[in-house]
Amino acid sequence: MPRVSSDRPSGHLRCIETSCAATYSLDDTRSECANCGNLLDVIYEHAADPEALKRLWRERKMSLDPRDLSGVWRFREIIPFLREQDQVVTLREGNTPIIESKHAAAYAGLDSIGFKHQGFNPTGSFKDNGMTAGVTKALNLGRKIVACVSTGNTSASLAAYASYGGLHAVIFIPAGQIAAGKLAQSLEYGAITIQVEANFDGTWKVVSQFVEQAGVYLMNSVNPYRIEGQKTIVVETMERLNWEPPDWIVLPGGNLGNSSAFGKGLREMLAMGLIKRMPRLAIIQAEGSAPLYHLLNKARAEGRAPLSYPAPIVADPRTLATAIKIGAPVSWRKALRELEATNGVCESVSEQEIADAKAVIGQAGIGCEPASAASLAGARKLVAAGIIKPSERVIGVLTGNMLKDPMYSLAYHEGTLSTHDADGDRRIVPRFPNRPVVVPPDPAAIMKALESVRQRG
Ligand SMILES: *Cc1c(COP(=O)(O)O)cnc(C)c1O
Repeated sequence: MPRVSSDRPSGHLRCIETSCAATYSLDDTRSECANCGNLLDVIYEHAADPEALKRLWRERKMSLDPRDLSGVWRFREIIPFLREQDQVVTLREGNTPIIESKHAAAYAGLDSIGFKHQGFNPTGSFKDNGMTAGVTKALNLGRKIVACVSTGNTSASLAAYASYGGLHAVIFIPAGQIAAGKLAQSLEYGAITIQVEANFDGTWKVVSQFVEQAGVYLMNSVNPYRIEGQKTIVVETMERLNWEPPDWIVLPGGNLGNSSAFGKGLREMLAMGLIKRMPRLAIIQAEGSAPLYHLLNKARAEGRAPLSYPAPIVADPRTLATAIKIGAPVSWRKALRELEATNGVCESVSEQEIADAKAVIGQAGIGCEPASAASLAGARKLVAAGIIKPSERVIGVLTGNMLKDPMYSLAYHEGTLSTHDADGDRRIVPRFPNRPVVVPPDPAAIMKALESVRQRG
């Protein structure tokens, strides 16, 4: 049987700019190329028998080794950046289900849709898949303080993993612009929490400059090890589908780290022979916060290569889906590369479309946070445009748990949800409201309320 080594760290960091291609050791904590300032990839020489790997990963499901109980480290041969003696910081992340929904499929105009629900993670979002890898790397490099700038979920996840691993977490969040559940998590998990009076992009601009110099290890998605951890989301997805890729994987895009991770994971699986063909990625952005979408439209209209443009920016991004409220996505070049590699598309959806799609996912008994619902809203729009065929197999990624942002759900169902646009506030009219029924403590009134439920069927 071919040897499947999980002990040997292999590979190096490499600049994503092909004309530069500077390399750095895996012990380097830089997140940008010293020559040209571009992001870095972790590059390995993967050389294992794909069937042996599939067997090994399946067999590990019987194991009680903490690494094997993690849905990230069970696949460690595809992220082989650790040494054998390295300690792993795991909260049993990953292992998230694919949940089929006829109700959501009908809404999108599809025959079927499966939701890969990353809200089932320990802190309730896919950031855990990346954070176990990033914090593990930080610990084994002997770093003591880790930090991030966050729209909420990165900070919740970093706070948990850093505390669990015995490190100090410092998180920077845009004041008043993250969902309540996420802020509560950061405080509860013991992170030093700094609210900056700016939006995400403004906060990133001030903080990213000095954290590295201050000896603090940055855990944003510029951290290449976080991207490695997030790769395993697509590996786990393919394993669950018996290595038969779907036609489409649809996911929301904010800073575009996850889109980059998915594309890298898919390319590597194809190169290793774990899958035989590429699914197509569909990245969905919120209309008021859609720099990648605008860039691609402009490039198409002007007949130029998207990479020939400067970094796309939406100066004042707007969306109630705070997890994707990012105007200057740091991983835009990586995401463009993955769209090309997967023959992917980028779409944008309105606040109304996100809100209604979220309610539909809730009605299906699944639930998710606002940004996640961009997946279903985007799938529906792409079906309507004839880009996704109704019979094609679609995996929608639900990036975060419904309880992250309960105020949004309450406002939607009460009909008080409104967007804050440059030209004033606009009310979202819920297509699928579910208001609480208030009754006096009186049997007759309660019977009457029950009668109206029976009439609903
Ligand atoms: C972080 C996040 C996103 C956006 O992911 P990017 O990697 O920044 O594109 C989407 N949804 C949720 C719930 C998130 O936490």
